[in-house]
Amino acid sequence: MNPEKINLLDFDEAGLKALFVGWGEKSFRAVQLIRWMHQRGEDNFQAMTDLSNAFRLRLSNECEIKPPPISEESVSVDGTRKWLLGVGGGSYIETVFIPEPGRGTLCISSQVGCALNCTFCSTATQGFNRNLSTAEIIGQLWLARRRLKEVSTEEDPLVITNIVMMGMGEPLLNLEAVTKALSLMRADEGYALPRRRVTVSTSGVAPAIYELAKNSDVSLALSLHAPTNELRSTLVPINKKYPIEILLEACREYIGEHKSRHVTMEYVMLRGINDSPVHARQLVRVLGNISCKVNLIPFNPFPGAVYERSTPESIQAFHHILAKAKLFTTTRKTRGDDIDAACGQLVGKVLDRTKRHERFLERTSQSLKVGNQGN
Ligand code: SF4
Repeated sequence: MNPEKINLLDFDEAGLKALFVGWGEKSFRAVQLIRWMHQRGEDNFQAMTDLSNAFRLRLSNECEIKPPPISEESVSVDGTRKWLLGVGGGSYIETVFIPEPGRGTLCISSQVGCALNCTFCSTATQGFNRNLSTAEIIGQLWLARRRLKEVSTEEDPLVITNIVMMGMGEPLLNLEAVTKALSLMRADEGYALPRRRVTVSTSGVAPAIYELAKNSDVSLALSLHAPTNELRSTLVPINKKYPIEILLEACREYIGEHKSRHVTMEYVMLRGINDSPVHARQLVRVLGNISCKVNLIPFNPFPGAVYERSTPESIQAFHHILAKAKLFTTTRKTRGDDIDAACGQLVGKVLDRTKRHERFLERTSQSLKVGNQGN
């Protein structure tokens, strides 16, 4: 019987060092392997020519470099590319590549499904299944880079310059695996991405923001979406546990004394819910003394969603109020509408396996009724 092979994508540099030193190898082998796997995208040990024959043989016998397999690929007319990856047991995750002039952003998932029930989110309708391993997280980048190389042309080179951990799941509830993947994204021998170009997005797990600050220097995005606790609790239920003032304090800590890290406030624009000039002015007050940028995100509707996208006019008016108050504000372009680019949509279509979706929609309309009473 063949014992299960060790997936080397599961290891950061410290983990690989421990593995190879345990084999009686020199610790610098870890850096060599990271270069081969992550910098050059190699998965064939025999091609790793600066390793000894004996070491390569042992690697071939006992190890593998195995990202989750691509089950489906969709390409939008605007060039957005979405992959559905199988992670076993009939479960899937999504990874999305968004090309723009001079840059390319990869949106990575951190969990299979999500437990946090944000009421505007397609992933939430699927419930929570499990955390992804480091191999499944960094494997999304490994795969996307390889696939993009295959389809790139001289006139249209597709290069990943930015990573956002904004796919399925709450990354800060899978902190250990996520932190290891982040270190490979940042490492010079790995993907060598500057810290401003790697962003972890959280719905607001305040204690984990402090933990992340100890172990990483990447940029943070907080899914704020509302200027008051009352409204935010209806959109992002974890707000009842970690309300806005607790979160903003955690963000201040994350930014640090010397403003060495960057924080973005994400604000999904929901028609008639959180997009009025009153909300904009409340937001200006709430963010008054924190150094951050605000990113307005037009809602990406999904089948059965109880919300609608704000009108372009109200998004513009909202943007204008924030900008006038000297809050650095951007409005995200909507992308990939034709390939269900809203996070979790494609998986939802493929699975559609339980009554969770209906129960979720029922809960959402109830919480909306409660939330709207005070506004
Ligand atoms: S928005 Fe993020 S945290 Fe909230 S349910 Fe969706 S995946 Fe989970």
